[in-house]
Amino acid sequence: MSNETHEQNNKGGTASFGFRNVPEDERQGLVNGVFSSVAARYDLMNDLMSGGLHRLWKADFVAMIGAPRNDQPFRLLDVAGGTGDIALRYAESSGPNATAVLADISPEMLEEGRTKVAAKGLDARISLTQGNAEALPFPDRAFDAYTIAFGIRNVTHIDAALREAHRVLKIGGRFLCLEFSECRVPLLDRLYDFHSFEVIPRLGRIAAGSGDPYRYLVESIRRFPNQEAFAGMIREAGFERVSVRNLTGGIAAIHSGWKL
Ligand code: SAM
Repeated sequence: MSNETHEQNNKGGTASFGFRNVPEDERQGLVNGVFSSVAARYDLMNDLMSGGLHRLWKADFVAMIGAPRNDQPFRLLDVAGGTGDIALRYAESSGPNATAVLADISPEMLEEGRTKVAAKGLDARISLTQGNAEALPFPDRAFDAYTIAFGIRNVTHIDAALREAHRVLKIGGRFLCLEFSECRVPLLDRLYDFHSFEVIPRLGRIAAGSGDPYRYLVESIRRFPNQEAFAGMIREAGFERVSVRNLTGGIAAIHSGWKL
């Protein structure tokens, strides 16, 4: 993958929206259009596209938060939390005083999340808020952990989102990001390419009525910084002890950093 494909923002006020370059100030609106159109089928499509693999990745990711199982208080901020997969898994696997705020920019995704949280009777422990990862509506040093799963790729100014993550964490707080990354296993990478560019858009057309949002999904993955480049951006935002754990040969990766 070339450095060029790693660039999310380009010079001259444009930003990548999948493989296209669009005016930087229009990108977030286009992303929001994608998620408002897929919100109702988001969970179903995740299972279909990944063959359920995203569930295993998310289970590993949530285990890394290290939330207390006893009655110690703990506050998680799950940014780009969408339909609530991370916040729900976290609440179900932690003690009664472990709470979460789920923030997402899309009202449609939040609505799906709200319905799921209510159905599980977890409203008292998970609150949902509309907010942009680049300018979070929370005070400094408010959270013990910050998670973002399959969200950061959609943000126009990743550096701004990382700085916000650092700002809202307490000293000693942990940053965790689950995101698609660069597949590093020969043959698996070819299979993954075929699946991404041939299977997923077709699945989108058949199961969700349109292939376009899913084309954005696979293209935006290829434009996202690889493991090392993204780790560098996390360090740049002020995090320490930054580490990366590849999942399924690097198809996805968990990046971790600490505010020390
Ligand atoms: N975290 C959930 C999961 O793992 O299933 C949802 C991930 S979904 C692929 C990406 C989410 O990012 C969408 O809900 C979208 O609305 C949200 N998003 C995109 N840009 C955002 C931004 N700038 N700030 C906050 N959320 C954003």
